[in-house]
Amino acid sequence: MPGMTLRIAFDNSYARLPERFHVRMPPEPVGEPRLLALNDALAADLGLDAAALRSPAGVAMLAGNAVPEGAEPLAQAYAGHQFGGFVPQLGDGRALLLGEVIDPTGARHDIQLKGSGRTPFSRMGDGRAWLGPVLREYVVSEAMAALGVPTTRALAAVATGDWVFREDRLPGAVLTRVATSHIRVGTFQFFAARRDTEGLRTLFEYTRDRHYPDAETLLDLLRAAVNAQARLVAHWMALGFIHGVMNTDNCHVGGLTIDYGPCAFMDSYHPETVFSSIDRHGRYAYANQPQIAVWNLAQFATALLPLMSDDSEAGRNAAIEAATEAVHAFADTYQAEWLARFRRKLGLAEARDDDARLIETLLTRMAVQGADFTRTFRGLVRGSAAAEFREPEAWNAFAADWSARLAAEGSTPEVARARAATANPARIPRNHRVEEMIAAAVAGDLAPFERLMAALAQPYAEDAALADLEAAPRPEQRVQATFCGT
Ligand code: AMP
Ligand code: MG
Repeated sequence: MPGMTLRIAFDNSYARLPERFHVRMPPEPVGEPRLLALNDALAADLGLDAAALRSPAGVAMLAGNAVPEGAEPLAQAYAGHQFGGFVPQLGDGRALLLGEVIDPTGARHDIQLKGSGRTPFSRMGDGRAWLGPVLREYVVSEAMAALGVPTTRALAAVATGDWVFREDRLPGAVLTRVATSHIRVGTFQFFAARRDTEGLRTLFEYTRDRHYPDAETLLDLLRAAVNAQARLVAHWMALGFIHGVMNTDNCHVGGLTIDYGPCAFMDSYHPETVFSSIDRHGRYAYANQPQIAVWNLAQFATALLPLMSDDSEAGRNAAIEAATEAVHAFADTYQAEWLARFRRKLGLAEARDDDARLIETLLTRMAVQGADFTRTFRGLVRGSAAAEFREPEAWNAFAADWSARLAAEGSTPEVARARAATANPARIPRNHRVEEMIAAAVAGDLAPFERLMAALAQPYAEDAALADLEAAPRPEQRVQATFCGT
């Protein structure tokens, strides 16, 4: 039928890597695919025809029921530290890389189906996803993109028409994820654990070509990855974002936010906030994220070491010293980026020695007062921050210091407010709204999903009609834990 054929110009570089990098296999078909969401803007950026993706042939591809010509579906092999314990083999257990496309600017993107059925890496899992985590990832990853955070993207969500069995019987879904790659620290660990130096070298060269073409040496690439992670985590911190499962298999070597499981944005600010139901010891609490990133990067450096030295003890020691120094550079980059982001959030134009202390003073007051993170900073723009504090004097005391600091650079709160307007979003995907959206979608109502998507696409624009999405949760609406929902 004309118009029904899906033509996508795949160019599958990962499939061309040696066999031990992946397992080639088709997705498992689903019962009754139905398109729930398609990201037209992203499709256009990728040079894909959105109308074709909406056609039956397109939906069949997005559900895993048809493999279009040129696709070479495969499950990627990787390993990883999960909550600090090393697992030598993880891999795509419920996802398949369909293929790669090159967008009109020449950039390469993975097109991945998540929830596409069992693979040799599934272990005890069913290889499936249910609607909740699929829509959560769709909403949160697209919100992150709109906020300018490096991230994987969501191209489509499809209902499978099949049930998925967790604690309950739940509707199944497949997410089409787009990413500049799916290379994780755990991908390097996979080869390092097998003492497969040749595989490591191949992966290094592949990663360099794809993410860091200017890196001439391993050390250059390590430094670039450290830099990207430091900037990424500082960005998360400036938005009150908690990833939730910063395992090394969820640590992207190119510096993307990847694997939206039990992630969440904080409502009231507290540095020890944890959402993930499986993070019992708070390993991945908000304030721990920079340290955990360093820990993950140290694992990355360790995986690279076999490539960085000859077998002599002197060579090894020199490599360890250089790699350690590269990882330790995280601290300075992170601190500089964190300061730059929070200065912008306070509308400061200049850098002064005492700025870190000023920012910490505000954060400490917010924690003591249970102030909402997003609303306080947006309130600074709106001139309504005091209302976020149980005792408005706590804000007023800070505001006096803030005004004095602004005066020192010849500025005023009015000027600062305007300056901070694009650093402090009005809207983030609030956890209780995400949960509400999922409950509605399970009941067949996608209107809250669509409204949330539209509201989050313009996070900095004032819109009185969206006030309900900006409100902090009432006590009974507060979400205490989010689940991986795997
Ligand atoms: P995650 O914690 O979501 O990053 O996943 C960790 C590992 O478990 C990865 O290897 C996943 O592919 C695998 N996994 C998670 N959920 C499932 C599932 N439902 N079926 C098979 N494998 C899964
Ligand atoms: Mg993962």
